Amino acid sequence: MEATYKISCDCGTVSMTLSGAPRVRGHCHCQACRTLLNTPYHSVTAWNPDQLSVTKGADQLASFQHPNLQMKKIFCSGCGEVMWNTNAMDWRVVSQHLIAKNNGGHLPEALGSLSHFHYGGRIVDVEDPLPKKD
Ligand SMILES: [Zn+2]
Ligand SMILES: [Zn+2]
Repeated sequence: MEATYKISCDCGTVSMTLSGAPRVRGHCHCQACRTLLNTPYHSVTAWNPDQLSVTKGADQLASFQHPNLQMKKIFCSGCGEVMWNTNAMDWRVVSQHLIAKNNGGHLPEALGSLSHFHYGGRIVDVEDPLPKKD
């Protein structure tokens, strides 16, 4: 059976389900993720558009197309929670932290990071056993 993950925002207005296995799971150290999300690196799961379905509050979602990046933020208009962002390939990029928050604080094993990427552009060093790719 296909795995599913149910995710809600902090205020409970928006809910969504992720299905199957993500295309990519890892820690992204690129400048674009930093610029979009104001985080030193972005711990992501990336999904095809048809793997993400909004099950509640679709009309309460707002989106922001960044003026200088081929990236969008999609967030709850009630609490500001970023539910996903898109990249240049229009993948649905969902924060591992958001998934963990919705799963009792633990990231499901099947969604854990396999590597660091764009590591050459990092602003913080990470010491862990995962492969580091530029
Ligand atoms: Zn909300
Ligand atoms: Zn990135």
